Amino acid sequence: MQILKQHSDHFWYMTPVAETDRPILGAVVGDTHTLMIDAGNSEAHTNLFLDALAGQGIKRPTLVALTHWHWDHIFGLSALTDTVSIASTATKAGIERLLPYSWDDVALAERVEDGREIAFCAEAIQLEYGEDRSMRVVLPTVTFEDTLTLDLGGVHVLLKHVGGDHAADAVVAYVPEGKVLFLGDALYANLYAPSWRMTPGQTLRLLDVLDQFDAEAYVWSHGQVVTRPEYEKDRDVLRSLARITLDFPGNKELITAQYEHLTERKVDEEEEELISFFVNGSNGEA
Ligand SMILES: [Zn+2]
Repeated sequence: MQILKQHSDHFWYMTPVAETDRPILGAVVGDTHTLMIDAGNSEAHTNLFLDALAGQGIKRPTLVALTHWHWDHIFGLSALTDTVSIASTATKAGIERLLPYSWDDVALAERVEDGREIAFCAEAIQLEYGEDRSMRVVLPTVTFEDTLTLDLGGVHVLLKHVGGDHAADAVVAYVPEGKVLFLGDALYANLYAPSWRMTPGQTLRLLDVLDQFDAEAYVWSHGQVVTRPEYEKDRDVLRSLARITLDFPGNKELITAQYEHLTERKVDEEEEELISFFVNGSNGEA
């Protein structure tokens, strides 16, 4: 079940759903405006969030910021008719590519076949929507290139285009009051590839960019809101694996051996998966 949680005076969020790929939705609550972060994967998702906010007496969002163009973060936009939507120009371009698409099973299967869609998303869309595929792709109203600062009244949000393997248009949202960094999907692997992958170069660059934010809480859109020490643990694993991958590109055995040597223990399941992403992202295989 999805729950609306209060993280601080200014930041609320609703927990994600793995099966239907519903990401965390955030609300940054200021004196003059409420900003919603990500629009949801369907009108049902969005409305569930809006109702939960209303239930807590929180002002309805007048602004919504998108973290990237992927369907599960934007399909709810059509339910936000009186909300000004904000996205990077790259995200808007990504959404524009979706405009001509149909979302019935045949069209989805065709796009999975030719690589424009991935099976994982097609299945989640089928689960979220059932037979009714009346979703309408809506373009964002306000766009920015690199950064945009919003003053919500006593609380601010910095939107920054950071890119990365998961989505070249990825934007993070930073709330200095409360030190929350909304990561979106930025640090996840590239799923729109023949095999899920991460490149050491993009990973190291992105981790350095994220290190510039003075944050105490980090929001992984398809995971949890974690503390800084928890984030740093995951960050250090990623950074270490990325660096080792540069020395042994595409070589699973050597990357694993070197990592186990450095950590003086066996890799766990999560690390094993990350190593496979780095192998896929560094050996040039199709
Ligand atoms: Zn995504």
